[in-house]
Amino acid sequence: MEHLQNFRPTQALINLDAVYANVSNLRQHLHSDVHIMAVIKANAYGHGDIQVAKTALRAGATMLAVATPEEALHVRKHISDVPILILGAVPVSFAPYAAKYDITLTVFSTEWLQRIASSATTFEKFLTVHLKVDSGMGRIGVRTISELRDVYDTATNMPNVVVDGIFTHFATADEEDPTFYEQQLQTFTTFVQSLPVKPRIVHAANTAASLVKEHVQFDAVRFGISMYGLAPSDYVAEHLPYPLQPALSLVTELVHVKQLHAGDSVGYGATYVAKEDEWVGTLPIGYADGMIRGLANQEVLVGGERAPIIGRICMDQVMIKLPKKFPIGESVVLIGKQGHEEIFIQEWADRLHTIVYEVPCMLTERIPRVFVTEK
Ligand SMILES: *Cc1c(COP(=O)(O)O)cnc(C)c1O
Repeated sequence: MEHLQNFRPTQALINLDAVYANVSNLRQHLHSDVHIMAVIKANAYGHGDIQVAKTALRAGATMLAVATPEEALHVRKHISDVPILILGAVPVSFAPYAAKYDITLTVFSTEWLQRIASSATTFEKFLTVHLKVDSGMGRIGVRTISELRDVYDTATNMPNVVVDGIFTHFATADEEDPTFYEQQLQTFTTFVQSLPVKPRIVHAANTAASLVKEHVQFDAVRFGISMYGLAPSDYVAEHLPYPLQPALSLVTELVHVKQLHAGDSVGYGATYVAKEDEWVGTLPIGYADGMIRGLANQEVLVGGERAPIIGRICMDQVMIKLPKKFPIGESVVLIGKQGHEEIFIQEWADRLHTIVYEVPCMLTERIPRVFVTEK
């Protein structure tokens, strides 16, 4: 069959020029010898991993980070010659493939290393690892200097394993109170200094730390959420060293427009009842696209004005109350700018009582990502 696609007007537009600007502005902000590791896990936070990665690399990133083996292999298929670090714990069964495809693994367990020791002798290439220190996040990583030393010694004594880096992750870098962050930084620094030889790449900063903290750039920063133009927290949003450019817009079109009369209802449960004559439009997007029912009462933009969702959100469709009659095919913006109005991802996050990170990740694969660039 021919390659038929994107008949439905519902699309996530990904502005790659915004990604480029967010990374190249970071490049200016950092010391010139610090690597930018573009964090493109979870399909680049829902934005499209390959396109975002290529854009970030053009804008000055030199390394990539993902969360899982599958994500790493997918990126490696499209991008060679750039280091890819898997930030999460990886099963021992993946180690030979990591060596073969030049994928850097996060390691924090002597037992894990011992379990790959026998197969490691048959690796065609070196397995590159970064050691992980749990300095207070409480997620993965070694928690004592003796544990670190044990993992380090075991790894450096394995003929096909190279300890190329060491890192930690901050739990509160996006908050105003620096106390816990400074404790973590102190712990990490002590751990790194305890090693007989400093690994080539020491890294600690996530987006928040790389934007608003001093002296924490080390050899690389792991830049995630703000590559997409979103601030990790209100505190960081108020202290940004440069303005961020949101990359994702969510758009659709009116597929049906009708007039309701007083007493007519809309949607499952007939929960919305018109009080007077009013115009109602139907949009082809629903909870199966990630526009979950918690977004009832959210507004959208049509004709440059805000229009509220009415009734319950269905699996594939949703109804909005129009300020006046509009034609079929009129463009509707759910996230992004239209005329002088703009709906930010933060507004969805507030309505859902969550953080901006979750919103683009929530948009399901059924919504095509359409890449926009003028460069
Ligand atoms: C996801 C992740 C990041 C990126 O965090 P942002 O806040 O999006 O910059 C960095 N480091 C680790 C270990 C992560 O898991």
